[in-house]
Amino acid sequence: MFQVAIDGPAGAGKSTIAKKVAREMGFIYADTGAMYRAMALSCLRCGIDKGDEQAVTEHCNTLTVSLNYENGEQQVLLNGENVNAFIRTEEVGNTTSAISVYRGVREKLLDLQRKLAGDYNVVMDGRDIGTNVLTGAQVKVYLTASVETRAKRRYDELMARGEKGSMEDIERDIRERDERDMNREIAPLKQAEDACYLDSSDMTIDEVTEKIKSLMREAGWK
Ligand code: C5P
Repeated sequence: MFQVAIDGPAGAGKSTIAKKVAREMGFIYADTGAMYRAMALSCLRCGIDKGDEQAVTEHCNTLTVSLNYENGEQQVLLNGENVNAFIRTEEVGNTTSAISVYRGVREKLLDLQRKLAGDYNVVMDGRDIGTNVLTGAQVKVYLTASVETRAKRRYDELMARGEKGSMEDIERDIRERDERDMNREIAPLKQAEDACYLDSSDMTIDEVTEKIKSLMREAGWK
């Protein structure tokens, strides 16, 4: 199977790019952030304290997270319920970053992610795909952009969905999330040694997509 691993901080454009590359190359797209988000949503719904590692881990171990594809779009199922419509809020994003530092939470999803990549040609995005989940991926990309660019993208996304939020709050959340994701003990966000570094601040979606497709061809995908 051919594996493309895309890692990077919040708002770098990973999911937009990964989805587009997957569609154009006939691969499946696996959004690992969505899997962590589904578990965070469940913790929020059940009133589990995100700072209590044992309670969070025990709760997550009772959950079943699975993926389904409808018209090529990934749907995340939490105990069989499609939760795609509920996992994109800032509240869920921040809770996700808080609970994904826990070993038990990460181990729970690791098998699912590796199995997916063993069964299909995949473009997988997240924080630790190239460094931990798919260390043998044929193509690895570290996709980033300036904090200001990323905050602006998140802001536009929220407004497009009719949600509230200020640029200042979003920029602060992004900085906090990056700080936590990059400095956690287990599987922190960092560039894999063999990953291609791409700063998308001044690149269009098409330019980034073409760059990744050319990396795939260089790595032997026709
Ligand atoms: O990419 P997304 O913003 O959906 O990810 C939400 C959070 O999930 C991240 O901030 C990170 O804390 C966590 N995550 C992770 N490992 C991954 C994907 C996401 O820890 N592979």
